[in-house]
Amino acid sequence: MSKSPVIRIQSKQLPEPHPEPVNALDYPRFAGIPTFMRLPHIPDAKRLDVALIGVPYDGGTSYRPGPRFGPRRVREQSALIRPYNPVLNVSPFDRLRVADYGDLSVNPLSIEDTFRRITTELNAVLQEGAIPMCVGGDHSILLPILRSIHKFHGPVALIQLDAHSDTWDEYWGIKYSHGTPVRRAIEEGLLAEPYVLQVGLRGQLYSAQDLDYAREHKIEMVTAEEFHEHGLPLVHKKLKAFEGMKTYLSLDIDVVDPAFAPGTGTPQVGGLSSVQILGLVRALRGLNFVGCDLVEVSPQFDSADITSLLAANLLFEQLCLLCD
Ligand code: MN
Ligand code: MN
Repeated sequence: MSKSPVIRIQSKQLPEPHPEPVNALDYPRFAGIPTFMRLPHIPDAKRLDVALIGVPYDGGTSYRPGPRFGPRRVREQSALIRPYNPVLNVSPFDRLRVADYGDLSVNPLSIEDTFRRITTELNAVLQEGAIPMCVGGDHSILLPILRSIHKFHGPVALIQLDAHSDTWDEYWGIKYSHGTPVRRAIEEGLLAEPYVLQVGLRGQLYSAQDLDYAREHKIEMVTAEEFHEHGLPLVHKKLKAFEGMKTYLSLDIDVVDPAFAPGTGTPQVGGLSSVQILGLVRALRGLNFVGCDLVEVSPQFDSADITSLLAANLLFEQLCLLCD
């Protein structure tokens, strides 16, 4: 796939001001109906450059269910986030038109129907020139999201921050689940091989051959152990191959250690700290992102909402990446 220079996202020129979070000095953070960062709810992609979209579906979970409740709790915990990012020196709401688009309609009893609904609705968002930033939901939603992204952008690179490779073939004879979306995406030609980078992989496998599929398909990996040993310089080295590529970012919250993010369905010890995941996301600055997500937040396994709070902050950091 040929490389092109990073295309700076142009904000739509409309005769109305950019949407902005409610000013906390006018109206306290704990008051009102919670949208993401207390932005207006605008289910109209024509008016947006970036649409924060909830996907409350967890029918793809294989162990502890619950991320259907993720979008709502992440929105609630986003109330404390202020609009300027001093580390990246970015004010995303000055730069882009961003609002809470609301949730996609899902069918909790059918994964195939849910995938159809996600793709149909995201196609409409992309058609209007808005970038989707989705909050899940379990990781199965990555596949229908990538189907839509592919329809508008062709094959894209994928950066996946995750404890798991999600390249299993099937579970109990079923092809669609939160453990299989990356393999399905490769099979469907949605990704630009070999431009998949997975960071944070760890945990026991069933056998030494479990990651053969990923290796055969030239998926680049930085395991959690490698990350702990070599840190961001190793990631920066691997990222060189992605410069100029249209890239999609998928963040599975279980990349973070359960000590910092216990509210998830398949926790793995030995993961990244809050500080490390913030640094890792910020290290992705300068890539050409066409969409992003954060998945697998399961509030009922959380403790004092620390997982949802971290997830909300990581979504804000992702939003800042779109401002380059
Ligand atoms: Mn995972
Ligand atoms: Mn995953």
